[in-house]
This record gives sequence, structure tokens and C-alpha cells, in this order.
Amino acid sequence: MPAGKIMKALSGFYYVLTAEGETYQCRGRGVFRKQKITPLVGDEVEFEAETKLEGYVHDVRPRKNELVRPPIANIDQAIIVTSAAQPDFSTVLLDRFLVLVESKHIDPVIFITKIDMLSEDELAKLETFKQDYEKIGYPVEMLSSKEETNLEQVKHHMKDKISVIAGQSGVGKSSMLNAIDPRLELETKEISESLGRGRHTTRHVELIPIGGGLVADTPGFSSLEFTEIESEELPSCFPEFREREEGCKFRGCMHHREPKCAVKQAVEDGDIPEYRYTHYLQFLEEIKSRKPRY
Ligand code: GDP
Ligand code: ZN
Repeated sequence: MPAGKIMKALSGFYYVLTAEGETYQCRGRGVFRKQKITPLVGDEVEFEAETKLEGYVHDVRPRKNELVRPPIANIDQAIIVTSAAQPDFSTVLLDRFLVLVESKHIDPVIFITKIDMLSEDELAKLETFKQDYEKIGYPVEMLSSKEETNLEQVKHHMKDKISVIAGQSGVGKSSMLNAIDPRLELETKEISESLGRGRHTTRHVELIPIGGGLVADTPGFSSLEFTEIESEELPSCFPEFREREEGCKFRGCMHHREPKCAVKQAVEDGDIPEYRYTHYLQFLEEIKSRKPRY
């Protein structure tokens, strides 16, 4: 049976792209409904097709992961876009995105846009943050879509991967994608605002070929609340805590009030930046004070 990847889902149809570069318009098999199987964009599937317009998805291969918003499977990475200015670079916001991405077991990459707006001093300060995050193990790229700085490096991260883009409105996500591939002609903010269109209209979900990889056309992690994260999971959303937890005296150490904690020690020794630990405590408090969901 032929196989391919679902590139787009729209009005009950799945658009399946084969390795040969052919697209087939397919419906899901009737039995999927009973089995509660919903094929997702990003799924690797087997299908049967009489013509290119009349196919049926037969089997969905096991998924590596999946997101609900946007509904996409087999995501290789989340590109967290934050800006150096307008809005100002914020480590707490970046850490919030990182925790949300880590909690879904997706690898994050950090892109910092609009570096053309910074003075030399500001740029040097931003460089120290870049180093902090790289030390944790996160790839970081600083770029300017306006001046087309470092776009090759940015592209390099997208190659051969399915990426979901995350980031506040206005940080320059569309400008970045347009700068990488001008054929896209995505609406940047001024245009969509001047047309008075809502930015929250629901659309279909589609993977767009860009930079030699595929990018979801809908940003992910639009809700920045930790509603789906339990407090016990939070320490594992900080890789530099994760790698030290064996050194803590207590198993399941929350790195908070426990004595002989390797994480607190690392903060004291300057091996973990204070702000990362402060944000951890802030998020922990936020999760603990959350009203029970049921
Ligand atoms: P999005 O909401 O994240 O998609 O952000 P947009 O791409 O719509 O950009 C928001 C605003 O930031 C627009 O006014 C862009 O012109 C501006 N912008 C985006 N990237 C850059 C950049 O690299 N440098 C400068 N100076 N402005 C930028
Ligand atoms: Zn600890």
C-alpha cells in the first residue's frame, strides 16, 4: 500500500504527500470514527487511492508525539521566537515557553529576532543570556529579518525537520519566515491589522515547506498557562535541574525547601543562573496555587 505524510487537513480531507512528491486527497477510513482514530497533520500513513482525488487513509503509523493546539503529530522541534526589543527580551517569558515545550517532550530551539534594534551594549548583554541558554543545551540564534542577519543559521535549524513555531504576537514570526522564503508572503502585523481582520480566526492546519523542512502554519502554545502541568513534573522541565537531581539527598527532590539539594547548591555556586531558579520557584508557586481542575 502506498505511504505518505499528511501535509494538510481541511473539511474532512487529508492531503497526503508521497516520497515521490505526489499529493493525494484522502478521506479517513469509516472505521476510524468507531476506533476514535483521528489522523493528524504530520502523520505518516498508508493509503489506498483509485485516483488522486479519491483516496482512503488506511493506517496511521505510531506517533512520536502530538500537540492539540495546533493539531499536529511527529513534531521534531518547537522554535521559540522571542524579540530583542519591541517587545523587550524577557527571560521569564522565554522560560515559560521552554517549560511548556519541555512538558510536551518536544525539543526547543530559541530564536531572538530584531537584533538590529539594539545598541552595542545591549547586544553584549543579550549575548550573555544566549550563552546561559546554550550552556543548558538549547540552540540559540540571534537574527534580524529586517537586515537579513543570520538567516542562513536559522534556516539550517529547520532543515529536514517538522517545526512548530511559538512566540508572542509581534515578536516577528511572520517577518522571519518571509525573510527566509519571500515566496511565502505571510501577512505581517501591520497588514492584517489594517485590514481589520481578527488574528484568532480558526483555520485549517498545514505544513509549509520552508528552509528545507516543514513548518506548521499555525503558531503553537498560544496559552501560556501551566494548566496541564503538575508540580511534580516541573523540575524535569528544566534540563539543568534534571541532570543534577541525582546529587540531591532526597529522591523526588523539588529543589525548594529540601536540605542538601544539588540544584540549590549549583545556584549558590553560580553554575545555574539565579533567574532560572527564581522563575522555577515562581512557576512552582503558580502551579500549586492553581485551583483543582475538577
Ligand atoms: P508576528 O506577530 O510574530 O508574526 O510579528 P510580525 O512578523 O508581524 O512583526 C511584528 C513587527 O515587528 C512588524 O512591525 C515588523 O516589521 C517588525 N519586525 C519583525 N522583525 C523585525 C526585525 O528583525 N527588525 C526590526 N527592526 N523589526 C522587525
Ligand atoms: Zn534538589
